[in-house]
Amino acid sequence: MITFEELGLDERLVQAVTEMGYVNPTPIQEKAIPVLINGTKDLIGLAQTGTGKTAAFGLPLLHLLDANDKYPQALVVCPTRELCLQIVNEIISFKKHIKGLQVVAVYGGASISLQIKDIRRGAQVVVATPGRLIDLIERKAINLEQIKYVVLDEADEMLNMGFQDDIEFILQNTPNRDSTWLFSATMPNEIRKVSKRYMKEPVEITVGKVNTANKNIDHQYYVTSAIHRYETLKRLIDFNPGIYGIIFTRTKAEAQEIAEKLTREGYDIDALHGDLSQPQRDKVMNQFRDRSLQLLIATDVAARGIDVKDITHVINYELPDDVEVYTHRTGRTGRAGNTGVAISIIHQREAYKLRQIEKIIQTQINKVEIPSGKDVCRKQFFYFMDKLLKADISHGDYETYVPMLEEKFADISKEEVLKRVAALEFDRFLKYYENAGDLNARIQDRNERRSDDRGRGRNSRDGGRRDSRDFQGDTTRLFINIGTKDGFYKASFLQFILDMSDLRKDVLGRIDMKEMNSWVEIDKRAANQMIRALDGKNFKGRKIRMNDADSGGGRRR
Ligand code: AMP
Repeated sequence: MITFEELGLDERLVQAVTEMGYVNPTPIQEKAIPVLINGTKDLIGLAQTGTGKTAAFGLPLLHLLDANDKYPQALVVCPTRELCLQIVNEIISFKKHIKGLQVVAVYGGASISLQIKDIRRGAQVVVATPGRLIDLIERKAINLEQIKYVVLDEADEMLNMGFQDDIEFILQNTPNRDSTWLFSATMPNEIRKVSKRYMKEPVEITVGKVNTANKNIDHQYYVTSAIHRYETLKRLIDFNPGIYGIIFTRTKAEAQEIAEKLTREGYDIDALHGDLSQPQRDKVMNQFRDRSLQLLIATDVAARGIDVKDITHVINYELPDDVEVYTHRTGRTGRAGNTGVAISIIHQREAYKLRQIEKIIQTQINKVEIPSGKDVCRKQFFYFMDKLLKADISHGDYETYVPMLEEKFADISKEEVLKRVAALEFDRFLKYYENAGDLNARIQDRNERRSDDRGRGRNSRDGGRRDSRDFQGDTTRLFINIGTKDGFYKASFLQFILDMSDLRKDVLGRIDMKEMNSWVEIDKRAANQMIRALDGKNFKGRKIRMNDADSGGGRRR
């Protein structure tokens, strides 16, 4: 086995790593160190965390730097504060026997003025997270003019966290950059793009197997109709009692509204959106980090750069418009070897978008049925019982109460006690889900739909001629007891009835909306499908009534 000495490293570095207990280089170190210290400019290292990456770039950096020049010469950019501190600590250990070499950590959430002081003191190595570094660049508090080496560590994570533009900005602001070393566990297209644009003929080193997709994430989707989206979200949360997750919405208003609604219903959730001040944002993030919040709901912009460990679920309340954003969102879970679940709530006509996403992530997104009320109750029940079994009783003075309890419960069996505990805990919950409906949107089979149309045609006035041209302009009007009072505008109402019925916009004609009711002009052939899809369904606790106004069933204006 090869030694650090044989790799050609400065002896002061060899001494330091020996003192740290490193005996032999790891595979990535063995491959990267010699090529880097021998003057390779650009390098792509494909390796997971824990492979010894930090030493693979840290030792060559220290080997190449000139400790006599007191300005920043090397910049390491990494996704998180934790990683930033970890890298700095390792570099401090490596440089133990090199006089005059300073390293500074630059990351968000800590005093910027102290960091500025550290920089002014003259550090040769800067280890930074992108957001804070850009802040410093914009304040002209850091001079990157003389930076020769730029290391991008965990580049894929940085892109997952929405730092693509920031990284490009940083690369553009290091005019004398001579070498760029990029480390990543995966090689998505975006990283290829960055490397093509900013690196010259990079040497590529791979250790272990390179994932194109994060195999630790289970991608799922649930199909419901637009009006049941919120209810579906709630049910999926309830079905995952131990959930620690982030929900993504498209708009600020939606994030805020859902957070308020769920809070009222007793969930530990808060929203992160652009209107919050920095202290408010920090407060929400701290609560989420220390788990006093179980759920965070955010827009993509607001969630940029947030890094929280052990996220169990990422939920797309709606799919993002830009399919690539899906990867960024869902990359928040299934990290550092943990598993995670990525959930998307969609309506039927969004299935094509999922197919596009599958191509990008090179992974199948599986359809899962929205659980029934009963499923949810069962899940919650066993979760609670497991918690009961695992409850920590080592700290309280419970023993003193045991004789008294034994006396009190003398005539009740264990089964009875358990039933009563369950009743106390679940009564409200069971009642809520007792009559819970099926939230799955059922896609009507194509053949079934076609034969339906034929059936309707035979009964229609024109005597059964099926040529589609016969139906041009052959419309009817449907009455529905939903109107502007229900919060709809014409466009949202149109979307709503189309989502519910899985019909296309071109079957519709004029729409008249009043406060309480509306009238929808529709191709006769599609009328029954729409009525079937809407009539009798629940909308915000009210029954929808829809019927054919022209056939005399509905209320006429
Ligand atoms: P990293 O992938 O850089 O996060 O390193 C993972 C861990 O392995 C860290 O705790 C390092 O201190 C340790 N490590 C790195 N290189 C070696 C080595 N050659 N021998 C023993 N431990 C190492």
